[in-house]
Amino acid sequence: MKGYAMLKIGEVGWIEKDCPVCGPMDAICKPLALAICTSDVHTVWEGAIGERHNMILGHEGCAEVVEVGSLVKDFKPGDRVLVPAITPDWNSLEAQGGYPMHSGGMLAGWKFSNFKDGVFSEYFHVNDADGNLALIPEGINTVDACMLSDMVPTGFHGVELADVQFGDIVLVIGIGPVGLMAVAGANMRGASRIIAVGTRPVCVAAAKKYGATDFISYKKGPIEEQVLELTGGKGVDRVVIAGGSVESFEPAVKSLKPGGKIGNVNYLGSGTYINIPRVEWGVGMGHKQINGGLMPGGRLRMEKLARLITSGKLDVAPLSTHVFEGWEHLPEALQLMKDKPAELIKPVVKI
Ligand code: NDP
Ligand code: ZN
Repeated sequence: MKGYAMLKIGEVGWIEKDCPVCGPMDAICKPLALAICTSDVHTVWEGAIGERHNMILGHEGCAEVVEVGSLVKDFKPGDRVLVPAITPDWNSLEAQGGYPMHSGGMLAGWKFSNFKDGVFSEYFHVNDADGNLALIPEGINTVDACMLSDMVPTGFHGVELADVQFGDIVLVIGIGPVGLMAVAGANMRGASRIIAVGTRPVCVAAAKKYGATDFISYKKGPIEEQVLELTGGKGVDRVVIAGGSVESFEPAVKSLKPGGKIGNVNYLGSGTYINIPRVEWGVGMGHKQINGGLMPGGRLRMEKLARLITSGKLDVAPLSTHVFEGWEHLPEALQLMKDKPAELIKPVVKI
């Protein structure tokens, strides 16, 4: 089978590999549509997870099941399925402890294009199929279904990590597709005001639609100064970090009220340390919590998030600004995600 792979850090290309083998609890799937993630860019061009050779890329897509193992109860060949980016081993101790995304070790629930070949392939392997797959509901097209792999669950997880409450003033740093879903999630959780940080006009327009009330540009001076000005010097109750770099923590802490919470879902692709400003962190006693997490996977969560779309509460269509038809466009779509032109939110390739 063919796949689009990271050949080594900084180099991508088509490769041929043997088809994956289906274990008793697994499924083999073939993609219906695939989406490119900023994480693919971090992986290839920043070497964020270290060197990988001939590893097929991709962790966002929806698919048709072609084979299931003998112990799989709820899926069969021909089923059209949502595929989460994170596919934990649900019988692991970490999953039993409430952290399925770390099943088998730190971040080890992230298997596609990390510990095994990803989904940019004619066929791909899904572990623990009953625990990880979900049927694509009636009324969700394959392009929108791709947004349920990672963008919706990750953006919403940022909101969970920041523990947004009714009436909170929320700062969302970064309004690419992940941050946009954090804006949507914060809005659903009852934020009274959502201050969004980003500059691409297409993202600003989408953020407004998803509930952002105020906008600031990180290019026009320090974020915290603009936040403090907008909030009468008081700051915000919650911060979701979905963009920037290791340097985003400094303005986040400085923008936060004592007792506030930060939820980070940004993938820190480079740098060794994160700077936490001592004074604004209350010289260690400010009750400003910093949480960072990988999205949880799992069928239940996928089914619930999909219901937000089928019920009309969440419209993910604005995220897919660039939709291609056919395999051969994968390299172009990946390059687009690397270049981030002004009119791009997310590229999707229909197979
Ligand atoms: P994008 O690159 O599309 O968006 C990044 C956003 O951050 C843009 O709004 C951008 O602004 C803004 N930004 C850039 N530089 C700065 C800065 N210095 N200060 C503040 N804001 C800045 O990314 P995605 O939405 O696709 O992904 C966001 C992050 O989430 C990535 O790091 C990705 O790898 C990570 N991720 C994490 C996952 C998880 O499970 N934890 C899963 C998936 C993704 P502008 O409008 O100017 O471009
Ligand atoms: Zn992703």
